Amino acid sequence: MKFSLVADTLSYMENTTKRLELTQHLVDLFKITPPNVIPKVIYLLQGKLRPDHEGVEIGIAEKIAIKALAKSSGIPIKKIDSEYKEAGDFGQVASKILKQKTQTTFLSQNITVERVYDTLYKIAELKGARSQDMKMKYISSLLNDATPIEGGLIAKIITSNLRLGIADYTILDALSISYTGTKDNRPLLENAYNVCSDLGKVAQSVAENGISSLKDFQVTTFSPIRPMLAERVKSPQEAHEKMGPEFASEYKLDGERVQIHRQNDKIILYSRSLENITSYYPDIVENIGKSLKSNEMILEAEIVAINDDTGEFLPFQELMHRRRKYKIAKAVQEYPITVNFFDVLSSDGKSCLDLPYSKRRKLLETNIVEDSFAKIMPMTLVRTDSEVEDSLENAINSGCEGIMLKQLDSPYRAGARASNWLKLKREYRNELGDSLDLVIVGAFYGRGRRTGRYGALLLSAYDEQTDTFPSICKVGTGFTDEGLDQIYQILSDKITIKKDRRIESGLEADVWFEPEVVIEIVASEITLSPIHKVAMDKIRKGSGLALRFPKFTGRIRFEKTSENATTIDEVTTLYSSQKRVVQEEK
Ligand code: ATP
Repeated sequence: MKFSLVADTLSYMENTTKRLELTQHLVDLFKITPPNVIPKVIYLLQGKLRPDHEGVEIGIAEKIAIKALAKSSGIPIKKIDSEYKEAGDFGQVASKILKQKTQTTFLSQNITVERVYDTLYKIAELKGARSQDMKMKYISSLLNDATPIEGGLIAKIITSNLRLGIADYTILDALSISYTGTKDNRPLLENAYNVCSDLGKVAQSVAENGISSLKDFQVTTFSPIRPMLAERVKSPQEAHEKMGPEFASEYKLDGERVQIHRQNDKIILYSRSLENITSYYPDIVENIGKSLKSNEMILEAEIVAINDDTGEFLPFQELMHRRRKYKIAKAVQEYPITVNFFDVLSSDGKSCLDLPYSKRRKLLETNIVEDSFAKIMPMTLVRTDSEVEDSLENAINSGCEGIMLKQLDSPYRAGARASNWLKLKREYRNELGDSLDLVIVGAFYGRGRRTGRYGALLLSAYDEQTDTFPSICKVGTGFTDEGLDQIYQILSDKITIKKDRRIESGLEADVWFEPEVVIEIVASEITLSPIHKVAMDKIRKGSGLALRFPKFTGRIRFEKTSENATTIDEVTTLYSSQKRVVQEEK
């Protein structure tokens, strides 16, 4: 299949943010893609080679990419370098440089999707001393034969400008329309995706064997499952309305969510965003086997840092010391943890997703042998508002941030945020009731003490429907000098010359970023705003929603991608529940 078909589709898509148009471009592309090539097309559209959890990284240093472009085009490195500094987008620069070249030479051959994908795969597998040289040669041979548009896309993919900004949802819609003629079958595709987290695999199955083949998608050990998420509630009363007469109340610990996959001696750990995090926790790999009665299981737990002397739970930030490449053994000693199991997703190789919560909890209790390292999350059954209050009080006194309320007869709804699970935190009585996880999209330069650094950041929520990032507030408080330095460092890699087309804001930031870094924010309330674009026109014509008195909590949500940020539906729900509270108090 010609690679130009993919490159052209993406360049049309760059000119629109309308979900319907984006989807239609993809439908047109999928319809002419042979079924055996579809997984490669899907991964390339996502700027990847394999699903994230497999950890296959293209990994090319910018210097090598520039050298390869110079070699293919005959244009000096210095010139390319300076064009790059000016434009900021390596894809654009490569396209421009290759345009100059095509005026003087003929293309030697058409490049195919298969060739681009296989070459990038070979590059990803290259290791060792001579690998840089080999990578450069492979890239340069691709660029030699690429048209300017194709070269631009290859350049974008390799320089980890990887995110081309196409949401999973848009791809799922397009697959459903292409292979079944209607968007109505998207839930079937989504279910399959939720259990395997591999869009390429889902696409290949529907393309080769039709929609009915997706029913065969089963939970498989070492394919992470997309996590079930909880809705927020602000009071025991609200929980009761959603949950019915009796439900479970578990401790809500503040740590890192982990999905543990075990088959005999092999153990792999996946984070909330399904990255492989096994290397950070060698103590789990070493110790957990003796606490699990079955040789093949998938479990969910919260990893929490503890004070070894007192057994006290420590704040989430302590776990950040574990996220390092070197001196892991020392970090294991210095920052001890416990693993607190709260769900079982498969046991003896059989899926447990369709079992009701009460049965899964029983399985957890019969399959885990507790010790000082492995624990089962404490749970009580609650019926009345005062029992919920008591359990919240008890959890907070034990060092938790709140409670998780779970419906007894609910299956595990992979990938869904639904009212079968509710989170009730200690902050529920004051102000907004919860923090928000927002994406940093821009910054404004500071004055006084903050001259030369950022004085305020522009933040966005995530709109799942349109796959965009509408702004919700500007935040300048809550930063320590140290925290500000850390954020400045992280953001320096994410600067873009132009505003990303998915960012929507009535404010002009001094600096724009790739919408990737997520931070936690508290605020006093949500108000209507003509400047910020969250839920624009939904509540009142000409108004969006904005946060009043936003404040950074000090927590960077490293484990969240920007698509995991607070959504506009969540903001709207918070806005309405805040209005309800105000009315009730009057
Ligand atoms: P999200 O709801 O999107 O995961 P978040 O991480 O900001 O966002 P929180 O408000 O912190 O969400 O609540 C959900 C998280 O709480 C889970 O992802 C999990 O890491 C953690 N957690 C702690 N205890 C439990 C428990 N008993 N059951 C389920 N999750 C728990």
